[in-house]
Amino acid sequence: MVKRVVNFNPGPAALPLDVLKIVQEELLDYQNSGMSILESSHRAKEFEAVNDAAIALVHEVLGVGPDYQVLFMGGGASTQFALIPMSFVPAGQTAAYIDTGEFANKAMKECQIVAKAHIAFSSKEEKYRRVPKMNEIKYPEDVAYLHLCSNNTIEGTQYHEFPETGKIPLIADMSSDIASRQLDYKQFAMFYAGAQKNLGPAGVTLVVIRNDFLAKAKTGLPTMFTYKTYVDNKSLYNTPPVFAVYIMKLVLEWVKKQGGLAGVEKVNAAKKDLLYGAIDANADFYKGTVEKTSRSWSNVTMRLPTEALEDKFIADAKKEGLIGMKGHRSVGGIRFSIYNAVSLDDIKKTVEFMAKFRKTA
Ligand SMILES: *Cc1c(COP(=O)(O)O)cnc(C)c1O
Repeated sequence: MVKRVVNFNPGPAALPLDVLKIVQEELLDYQNSGMSILESSHRAKEFEAVNDAAIALVHEVLGVGPDYQVLFMGGGASTQFALIPMSFVPAGQTAAYIDTGEFANKAMKECQIVAKAHIAFSSKEEKYRRVPKMNEIKYPEDVAYLHLCSNNTIEGTQYHEFPETGKIPLIADMSSDIASRQLDYKQFAMFYAGAQKNLGPAGVTLVVIRNDFLAKAKTGLPTMFTYKTYVDNKSLYNTPPVFAVYIMKLVLEWVKKQGGLAGVEKVNAAKKDLLYGAIDANADFYKGTVEKTSRSWSNVTMRLPTEALEDKFIADAKKEGLIGMKGHRSVGGIRFSIYNAVSLDDIKKTVEFMAKFRKTA
């Protein structure tokens, strides 16, 4: 029996064990092809079937119809920060950005390199402890789009409602909470996610765009920077990250088996209730770092009374097989990244450890 840790890594992150077992089983001889999917041509029927199935599963699991295009791209979510303003802000126009954390801010800064960015809201002065209330979001009527980050991975905040933007297209970076809860994905003109948190391994970025918004994209950009290239070629214009797409397909099948978004949401709700419950029950010792109404279901952040105690917490936890909780270098503290592949049992073990540590520390 292989020994597996409780893995709270923020990304690349835990993958479902059932998925890894399928990968292992199929690694040397993929479906009687006599070779690994890693060695197969991206033009071969084996991979084409994987690619088609992955696209269909994104539509099915996230509930977006044929009026949306599903693309698999390279360069991570960070490349989308640049490609979006390059493609969708016409000359002289402005795009609106909500600044709720390090990644949201990076997205805005990339826009400022190629176009103008209007700050529709910022919680930077409040150390990014919250996302906005809907009536705090302000932007001119003629912006090209409004961009937000649905879950702030580093800070541990998440939107629990989204602004109604009318005719202004809404774009979301969903890298750390895609497919983690029930959501009307159709309220977004576009959303994207690096796969390495909730969808699979690093190497592929899921991009979903509504046709009417895609039609507004600028032409004249280099081929690989043009969304339509990916649409017209089912993301097979050049060699795609075949292994990452294959594992993403397996993860989406796994999500379906858990009962789809409703199923994973139920487990994720129980997980975050347990963990925040353990923090709040010991509020003199474990201090949540964000406003309660903005708390993330994906990244749970807290501080202990001293940094020395935080280091001890991490070291002691490791002895019990709990790893990956060191807060991001920019904020410190403790962060539990509790993506879909982290189980309710993992969280039960964790709150037992927290109670024990509280008593002995
Ligand atoms: C991890 C993360 C990113 C960066 O993704 P890369 O794929 O490494 O470029 C961007 N946005 C959010 C919200 C993230 O969590």
